[in-house]
Amino acid sequence: MKIRLYNARILDLSGDHNIRCGEVCVSGGLIEKVSYDNNAGSHEEVFDRQIDCHGNLLMRGFNNAHAHSAMTFLRSRADDKPTPIWLKDDVFPNEAKLTDEDIADFQRLAIMEYVSGGIVSAMDMYLRPDVTAEVFSKAGMRAVIVSGLNDFTSSIERFQDEFVRLNSMHPLISYKAGFHAEYTCRKERLERLSEIVRELKCPVYCHLSETAFEVEDCVRRTGCTPFDYLDSLGLFENGGGIYHGVHLTDEEIDRIRDRGVHVVINSGSNCKLASGIAPLKKMHDKGIRLALGTDGPASNNSLDMFREMYLTSVLCKLAEKDAACMDASFILDMAVKGSAGCMGLEDSGQIKAGNPADMILLDLFKPNMQPLNNIVKNIVYAGNVSNVIMTMVAGRILYENGEYDLGFDTEELLAKCAARCKRIFSGDTK
Ligand SMILES: [Zn+2]
Repeated sequence: MKIRLYNARILDLSGDHNIRCGEVCVSGGLIEKVSYDNNAGSHEEVFDRQIDCHGNLLMRGFNNAHAHSAMTFLRSRADDKPTPIWLKDDVFPNEAKLTDEDIADFQRLAIMEYVSGGIVSAMDMYLRPDVTAEVFSKAGMRAVIVSGLNDFTSSIERFQDEFVRLNSMHPLISYKAGFHAEYTCRKERLERLSEIVRELKCPVYCHLSETAFEVEDCVRRTGCTPFDYLDSLGLFENGGGIYHGVHLTDEEIDRIRDRGVHVVINSGSNCKLASGIAPLKKMHDKGIRLALGTDGPASNNSLDMFREMYLTSVLCKLAEKDAACMDASFILDMAVKGSAGCMGLEDSGQIKAGNPADMILLDLFKPNMQPLNNIVKNIVYAGNVSNVIMTMVAGRILYENGEYDLGFDTEELLAKCAARCKRIFSGDTK
């Protein structure tokens, strides 16, 4: 499919966040050509579609660097409870009732939310990577799947098998080594994983230092804080990423930087579960690679990168008691480039020939985006999902003006998800 998007304001996130008017041609999943001259209106070339962007903003889409997409089924089902009780009473028992078909449909629901919110890729950790790979690739959305290795629902053998199969199954799918968290993996299993990733020379991802309790418990059991404990097992020799990173010591932050490990900030989830505020400014100043993610819809409850950007920005200002501590442009970079880098995707943030055609078109003429004093600050401080006109992944338009093209009937999907929830919460397993 050859698509021409013209009359656009084009945002370049590679440097000074320049915005210039121009047009973009897309072909074969890639950006084929970008031109900024004013005579670009006349074309000899034949396109399958030509889209007048009416002066709206074309930019690289958001990359969600941490999610558990299928947890849409628990959205607003069990809120406002202490986290351990929420996990024990609501999350684990209900997850045990999920069939593969349940997981697939709840992931499709998340994909609808992603693309209607300008998200072009998600780094997903959940129970059935095979199902995730199948669902995302069929919908046309990019997914970086992380093995959620733990002591209860997965194994080293399964990880090794998935690593080989899912890294070659589809161009939109990649698979990374990971484990759920230090506190859900026994030492022998982590040591074995460390041996394997050393051979594979691959980065490792996990939840880490999300809560103060988790850190205290790890210190009590191992004598080390979580990052230092895992690092002592050799798990981060090839970099990787940690999700949350709320309760880190200064020394850990130094070692995280030295290992080239990314930290994914999950502000919505951290606020709602009262986990704390990640030391963003300190990590930024120490040169940590920073990314942004929503976490799962059970704990957020929204898969909305606009909200994550806003929360991350204002929490940083509040924690530092300094309104000038972090510029909006850096927060936007985190949501696009920082997350892409963490996920192992192309991360220049540039709309240029040869890059993947993972782009969004944002409506600049809704009241919340006017006046156009500063478009980047408008996006971070005033933007919301209603500003997303179009989301394109690998050159295919998955969402446009309220309509989805994801290979399934979206109305039917909503009804199926509702029926599945009814069954799961009634206590039935089939
Ligand atoms: Zn998580």
